[in-house]
Amino acid sequence: MIPYENLKRLNAPFENKFRERFNKVLENGYYILGPELEAFEAAYAAWHQTRFCVGISNGLDALILSLKACNLPAGSEVIVPSNTYIASILAILNCQLIPVLVEPDIATYNIDPDKIEEAITPDTKAIMVVHLYGKCCQMDKIMAIKEKHDLFLIEDCAQSHGATFKDKLSGTFGEFGAFSFYPTKNLGALGDAGAVICNDEGYKNTLAQLRNYGSERKYYNDIIGYNNRLDEMQAAFLSAKLEHLKEMNAHRNKLAQLYFDNLGDKFILPVQHADYYDVYHIFNIRHEKRDDLQAYLTKKGIGTVIHYPVPPHKQKALQGVAGIKGSYPIAEEIHNTTLSIPCSFCHIEDEVMQVIEALNSY
Ligand SMILES: *Cc1c(COP(=O)(O)O)cnc(C)c1O
Repeated sequence: MIPYENLKRLNAPFENKFRERFNKVLENGYYILGPELEAFEAAYAAWHQTRFCVGISNGLDALILSLKACNLPAGSEVIVPSNTYIASILAILNCQLIPVLVEPDIATYNIDPDKIEEAITPDTKAIMVVHLYGKCCQMDKIMAIKEKHDLFLIEDCAQSHGATFKDKLSGTFGEFGAFSFYPTKNLGALGDAGAVICNDEGYKNTLAQLRNYGSERKYYNDIIGYNNRLDEMQAAFLSAKLEHLKEMNAHRNKLAQLYFDNLGDKFILPVQHADYYDVYHIFNIRHEKRDDLQAYLTKKGIGTVIHYPVPPHKQKALQGVAGIKGSYPIAEEIHNTTLSIPCSFCHIEDEVMQVIEALNSY
């Protein structure tokens, strides 16, 4: 059996560190907005060479608070890729904003920069890029559009911790880089967790207020806020794991390279390009008979996942939503043919070679 993911195994190398951190928090007696959160925020900002990081309860909330901090008029349009994980779109809808779906590039699976401008209207106020599967979007073109049309840029970095475009880290291009530390992400906590990185002190202060009832000073509330804090325990675990993020990403790259070097050409593989350092949160292949292929692998004891089986515009929850109309054939093509194969920090090279053997014998 080769599981698609195994979190117990993935975290095994860090168990002693986690126990030490757990004991430290227990000794401290601080559980919310304490020294562990401050330490993690400082470390995560430094890791990105950004000025600030604000720990948030999870990735969806990190996106929501980033949008709130933009302070856009209700009904403003936000451009977002049509093949994203639904959380990006839910964040926009939860802020009473209108998601405008733009199709991805079939080669990169990321938003097609050449299709963004035609979607811009006088109501467009922001672009939410999603660095899907661990590959950065084509940020030079997107930055030019952002500047030209004076739009906010929010980066959904839930799948791209440590990914770069032309040596610049994901999350450092726009006003806000929103991260999820959901346990399966490239930097995963032992529960729900998230963060936003930014360079503007005003935005940092607003995010810090928004996550804590709109309050900067206890019992003085300046804005309408939420309870979206990141707790001390998760922050302590994340600090321990952050020290290994580069090595975990390098491991995924080593496994990905085995796929590139050994998989036969009947599968469509992700594109590789010198401008990008991909972190392979998801290593996907595409095949016309995807469902049959998945069943075949299941029979051979190989776990796979489809990211994602239903595109956002076909989700029941999004029927009739303003901004989601028309057809999105590229998103549908990806959703119909994509299959994610094992490529996690928990896997060893021998397991990936077994997956390759099974795939090549299909
Ligand atoms: C996981 C994920 C999110 C949401 O993160 P949570 O921490 O689960 O709320 C948002 N966007 C993308 C692209 C994701 O993969």
